[in-house]
Amino acid sequence: MYCETDEDLCELVNRARKYTEYGKVANYIPALGRAEQSDLAIALYYKDGHCVKAGDVEKKFTLQSVSKVLTLALAIMDQGEEEVFRKVGMEPTGDPFNSIAKLETQIPAKPLNPMINAGALVVTNMIEGRSTHEKLGRLLTLIHDLTNNSKIDVDHGVAKSEYETAHLNRSLCYYMKQHGVITGEVEELIDLYTRQCAIQVTCIDLARIGMVLANKGRDPLSNRLILPEGIATIVKTFMVTCGMYNASGEFAIRVGIPAKSGVSGGIIGLVPPNIGVGVYGPSLNEKGNSIAGVKLLEMLSQRYQLSIF
Ligand code: GLU
Repeated sequence: MYCETDEDLCELVNRARKYTEYGKVANYIPALGRAEQSDLAIALYYKDGHCVKAGDVEKKFTLQSVSKVLTLALAIMDQGEEEVFRKVGMEPTGDPFNSIAKLETQIPAKPLNPMINAGALVVTNMIEGRSTHEKLGRLLTLIHDLTNNSKIDVDHGVAKSEYETAHLNRSLCYYMKQHGVITGEVEELIDLYTRQCAIQVTCIDLARIGMVLANKGRDPLSNRLILPEGIATIVKTFMVTCGMYNASGEFAIRVGIPAKSGVSGGIIGLVPPNIGVGVYGPSLNEKGNSIAGVKLLEMLSQRYQLSIF
C-alpha cells in the first residue's frame, strides 16, 4: 500500500506537528537559531517521478549532517573503498555526533564512522580537487545530478556563522592532524566542511536523492547511473547503523528505514527499491533529531508498512 495523495500525508503532518512544541531549534550555529520551530514538511518521491508532499514544503534549509552521506559517496568514488576505510571506521557509536572522546581510545585516532563529525571531517579531507572551490563544485554537481535541480547552492550566511563558531570541529581536526589522519590546512578543511553543511535544499530535493539511492544509485527518470551500486549500498548501510546519531538503534526499531538527519532538522530517508523520503522539522529532540520529523516517519512507516526489516 502506497501513500498516493498529498491529503494522506497532510493528515499525518497535522497530527505530528504538535510535537514541534516539545523540542528546540539548534542555535550552537547561530544562524540556525532563526528557523521557525513549528515548521514541519515531508515529501515522498517515487521511482516513476510521482511526488507527494505536505506541510511547509517550500521552506529551504541547510543539509548539515545530511551532507555526510553525499561526501562519503564522493570520497569513495575519488579514493576507493579501501583507502577511505583505512582512515575512518565502520562502527556505530553511542556517543554524540561531535564527541571527541573515542578519538583518544582509537589507535591511531581513527574515527569510528563517517557519520559523526570526526569521521565526516576525515571524509571531506579526501575529496579530490585543486582548491576548496573545485571540491565544493564537485559536491554540488553530484547533488545537482541526484536532485535534478541545478539551482541548489550554499547558504553563505549559515556557512559563515558555522565557520566562525566551529571550535569543536577545529579541535577534532587538529587532534587528527597530529596523528596523520588528516592532511593539509585545518582552516581550509573547516571552510569546505562548513560550506558543505550549508548547502541549501528543500524536503523535495532530499526525497529525490533518497529515491535515487533506493534505486541503487541510478536515476530512473534519466536512466543515468549517478553513483555506482556498491557505493550506494555502503551509504545506505551507514544510514541504518549510524544515520540518526546515537538514536539509530531506536529509529531502526520504530521506523525501520535507512535515514540520515542533520541539526537543521532535515532527514533524508529511503525505502528500497523505489521510495525516497525528505523531511524538514527544525525543532530537535535531545539527541539532535527532528522531534516531529521522527514522529511523522514513525506514523508513516506504521501506516504504510515501510520498515525494511
Ligand atoms: N555542521 C554541523 C556540525 O558540524 C553538522 C552537525 C549535524 O548536523 O549533526 O556541527
